[in-house]
This record gives sequence, C-alpha cells and structure tokens, in this order.
Amino acid sequence: MSHLTGSGRRDVLRDDLSAYAASFEAWLASRPAELVAAARPLPVYAERVAVTSELMRALFDEGWARYGWPEQVGGLGGGILHRAAMWEALARHGVAAMALFEHLEILAPTLVAMGDAGFVAGTLPRFLRGEERWSQGFSEPEAGSDLASLRTRAVAADGGYLITGRKIWTSWARYATWCLVLARTGPPESRHRGLTAFAVDLRSPGVEVRAIEQANGTDELAEVTFDEVAVGPERIVGELGGGWGVAMHILAHERGTFAWFRHNFLYRQLLETVETGTPAADRLLGDALLDLAAVRASSHLGLHAHASGAALGPKAAFVKLLLGASEQSVNDWALASDPDLAVGPPDDEAAARRQDYLFSRIVTVYGGSQQMQLDTIAKQILRLP
Ligand SMILES: Cc1cc2nc3c(=O)[nH]c(=O)nc-3n(C[C@H](O)[C@H](O)[C@H](O)COP(=O)(O)OP(=O)(O)OC[C@H]3O[C@@H](n4cnc5c(N)ncnc54)[C@H](O)[C@@H]3O)c2cc1C
Repeated sequence: MSHLTGSGRRDVLRDDLSAYAASFEAWLASRPAELVAAARPLPVYAERVAVTSELMRALFDEGWARYGWPEQVGGLGGGILHRAAMWEALARHGVAAMALFEHLEILAPTLVAMGDAGFVAGTLPRFLRGEERWSQGFSEPEAGSDLASLRTRAVAADGGYLITGRKIWTSWARYATWCLVLARTGPPESRHRGLTAFAVDLRSPGVEVRAIEQANGTDELAEVTFDEVAVGPERIVGELGGGWGVAMHILAHERGTFAWFRHNFLYRQLLETVETGTPAADRLLGDALLDLAAVRASSHLGLHAHASGAALGPKAAFVKLLLGASEQSVNDWALASDPDLAVGPPDDEAAARRQDYLFSRIVTVYGGSQQMQLDTIAKQILRLP
C-alpha cells in the first residue's frame, strides 16, 4: 500500500471523508496506467472486464477500494460515503463504465450484512481486488416479476445442500466465480416464505454457464443450470428460509444506492458526447440533464439516509424509475446527435457507445421492471387499494 504509510494515515483517511477524497483525487491526478486504460472506450466486452479488473486491483492495493468496508472483512473502515466519493471521482477522471464491478455495490453490502463472517472475510477482498466476481441468480424462465414462484430447489444432504434448477438473465455469470442463488428449501407452495439464499461457487461440478449474446453484441447475460450442486451450510447467506429478506436487501441496493454510483457514469457518458451534439438535439440534451439531476438528488438523499443507518425500503423504487428514465434520455440525446449510433459494425470507433445505446433500451427491466416499481410505489408507499 504505497500511499497509505502507517496506521495513523489510514485512520485519518477513514475518519475524515474530505481527506480521503483529496488524497484519492491526488492519486487519480497522477494518471496511474490502470486508470488511463479503463478510461478508454472498450468495445470488446472481455477486454473491458480485463481492464477494469486491473483498475480494481490497483484501487485495492493502494487502499482506496478498501475504505467503506469493515476491517473484519478486509476493508479499512469508514462507510458508504467513502465508496460514493471513490466512484464519483473515477467518473470525473474519465471512467464511463465499470462493467461488472458496479455489481459490488449491489451484492457486497448484503454479503457483509448477512453472510457467514468467515466466508465473507475470505472472499470479499478478492471481490474488491477484481480477482473474483459475483453474479445474482434470482430470475428463472418462469419466474421474473413473480420471483416468489421460483422452482430451483435446495435439498438437505450430507450436512449441506444439493441445488438443482435453472437461472436466466444472470448478469456477468460468464465472468463470475460466485453466484448468489435464491433457491427453494421449503415445500413447492411456500412462495416467498420457503426460499434460502446460497453463495454458490460456479466452478463446482454440476454447474453449466451458457452466455446469452445480447443485441448489442456483448455476452453480459447468461443462463446458468445447476445439477445437484453441493454447497456447505456456511454458504447460506442470511437464515435458512430467510432468502426473501436477503433478496429484498439486495434489490433495495440495486434500486436505491446503486443509482448514485451508476448516474456518475451516465453523466460522464453525456459529457463525452456533448461536443458532438447538434443544436437540433438541444431539447433532448435538456431532458437528459434534468433527468440526471432528478436521479442525483433522489439517490443522494437515499445514500445519506442509508449512511445514517436508515433502511432503504420501498422508496428505492422511485430512484430506480428515475435511473431508468435518465439512462434512456442520455442515450436518446446521443442517438439524436448521431443517427448512425443504433446500427453498425461491432468493432468500429462508435461500437462502445452503440453498446451503451442498445443497453439503455432494456434498463427499465433489470432489478424489477418499471411496472413492478410502479406497483411497489402504489401498494407500499401510496397504499392504494
Ligand atoms: C439487462 C438485464 C440484466 C438482468 N440481470 C439479472 C441478474 O443479474 N439476475 C437475475 O436474477 N435477473 C436478472 N435480470 C432479469 C430481470 O430481473 C427480469 O427480466 C425482470 O424481473 C422481469 O422478469 P421477466 O423477464 O420474467 O418478465 P415478466 O415477469 O414475464 O414480465 C413481462 C412483462 O409483464 C409485466 N408484468 C409482469 N407482472 C406484472 C404485474 N403483476 N403487474 C404489471 N405488469 C406486470 C412486466 O412489467 C413486463 O413488462 C436482468 C434483466 C435484464 C434486462
């Protein structure tokens, strides 16, 4: 850890957010090679993963990515605002996407809060360092919006469990070592009460990962099948039968605080294309800026409330709606400025932007569709009949 000489310095950076932000800014301003590489547009997805993995390694080894996580699991202490400052500064220095490393902010808070302490202490540092990646195995071919109807089952055997079933749309499974699998441990009709979350090693016998190529040419999504895959009891995240609570904890982060991290990258994308915009598209640029301001304000509130110990809860549905809208309006503006953006070869100069544009068409689906967010707002916040 070349920048963090001595525990006194570490304590200052942990306890004083402005000192952390200033020191990190100075490190970024020195233009480390890993930052320069990750700030380039990278149309080949596997290359994007490799380059961002290198950046994660550097951020971990220099200590920056360890702030905001508890010392017991390999962090250096501090809170979520350290992480918020880190991701915002990375975007300011030209990083417009972190691919699967944004997933850290969706899964790791739940792993730390609910996972087996020994298991998380062993694995989280490798996640933070970009050596191992995680995926989220909730959706199934017959269970998306109605997640409580999922059929993947975990049967008790030899002191552990055997998992059998099929997951789909599993982001980054192709590149991941671990999958947080939601499986049924109760009877078939037990709905959300009979589910348990397991951390499954995707290298285990019985696991098959088949990449799904998306319309934008990337293989970010996958179908994952499990055929009597053995997992030990220490791989249960949360309680046996408590999988629904684990899933809701994850989804609250995916809908709430994640928007803060993601909107920084969207803002960066917008800035990078602003020079090439045509005046005819100015109204769309205005829409995109307003949408980003709305998601910034709402996710900032959620982030700070969460940093003070408040649960994210159903209000995160508002933030997810705003995030989806802003991702689409940023890209609507990009398309109006460059009508060739939507169609073209996978490896020309515009390929990375084209991938972002096409991806923006489906962002109102992941983490629960737009209609399901509206449903949550209607039932749980407005208490409509
Ligand atoms: C880019 C991307 C990444 C994803 N990553 C992951 C991942 O990593 N892990 C994972 O587990 N899943 C992932 N998903 C899957 C995602 O969670 C599901 O696609 C989503 O929950 C919708 O489920 P479905 O596709 O089965 O659609 P369905 O549930 O079949 O819905 C189809 C349509 O019907 C509407 N609908 C359904 N029920 C209702 C209702 N009660 N009221 C009103 N409208 C309704 C929906 O809004 C939608 O428009 C990802 C999806 C995308 C697009």
